[in-house]
Amino acid sequence: MRTAKAAVYEAPKAPFVLKEFPLRPVKRGEVLVRVTMSTICRSDIHSYEGRRPNPCPGILGHEIIGVIEEIGEGIETDMRGDPLKVGDRITWSEYFFDGQCYYREVLDMPQKCHGLRKYGHDLAQEDPHFLGGFAEYCYILPGTWILKLPSELSDEEATPLNCGVATMASVTEAAGIGLGDAVVIQGLGLLGLYGAAMARARGARCVIGLDSVASRLAVAKKFGADHVLDIACTSARAVIEEVRTLCRPDGADVVIEVCGVPDVIPQGLQMLRAGGRYVLGGLVNPNANVTIDANILVKSWITMRGIHNYHPRHLIQALDFVMANRDRFPFKDIVDAKFALTDLDAAFEKASSRAVLRAAIVPRLAG
Ligand SMILES: [Zn+2]
Repeated sequence: MRTAKAAVYEAPKAPFVLKEFPLRPVKRGEVLVRVTMSTICRSDIHSYEGRRPNPCPGILGHEIIGVIEEIGEGIETDMRGDPLKVGDRITWSEYFFDGQCYYREVLDMPQKCHGLRKYGHDLAQEDPHFLGGFAEYCYILPGTWILKLPSELSDEEATPLNCGVATMASVTEAAGIGLGDAVVIQGLGLLGLYGAAMARARGARCVIGLDSVASRLAVAKKFGADHVLDIACTSARAVIEEVRTLCRPDGADVVIEVCGVPDVIPQGLQMLRAGGRYVLGGLVNPNANVTIDANILVKSWITMRGIHNYHPRHLIQALDFVMANRDRFPFKDIVDAKFALTDLDAAFEKASSRAVLRAAIVPRLAG
């Protein structure tokens, strides 16, 4: 029987363990992919640190791309109708759901179906074993949206599409960013950089990026931010005032939270003009408690909205956005470190300390 390797997440904060599992032939509606790259998302780090529940022992990683090695009966095209065959490089939705659900059929919110499963969130010892990114192979199960990748797109540009980039397509859509808007982005990690670029592409007149990591502020300027403010060396009051001065006449139209820190919410609310929109995308962990003066929501007509994951259309939008803007913004530079599967501990260490922007795992990294 064929086998392949995976870096298994045994327990929070424990070193990853390289293990072999059997590879079985695909069943109807399944695809077997040889993983070419997977990147470490902030939520993988949260799982690894035990800040959110994730089955152990499991295989983490959900930002994955790969090449089709086996294709099951019933799979003929990708979600756009393009034919799929062995050897094609693909991305796919980070979640899958096979069945009917009120959320999908009635409310058009497939990402919130009850019983939905996600890649990187399953037990490694159960069939088909390979359902996460930090492995040599991944099975794509029925109910997954598959999207073929154009050959000109590099692995570095393509890998974050199915989580970070698609999520930001969803967040910036929910924020209703339109022509002439002034947009503030709290947090300039991968989500924030794509958020800045998308805000710009959606027609924002002014994009302001906030972060406490100095190196990220400089990078954000390359992704469409007009102004960047270092919140580590400025008081909250001064940051609010500066944002309000930059967003004349009376504050930002939109503030987007993608830093995962609930304490920034009261400040973000105070940056908005009356009628402004506040969209939360980064607070994916439970217990993100914060105290706000809800009077500001009433008095200033603030719309506050949370967004988690994305609709399948956002995966297509993510790919098309990157394809259309890859000469304008340096997406290829976001993945700034590559590691072999055997170096997953080092990769997590670098990613969690924010020493790198997006760490990539290349299972067959040469040399
Ligand atoms: Zn993710």
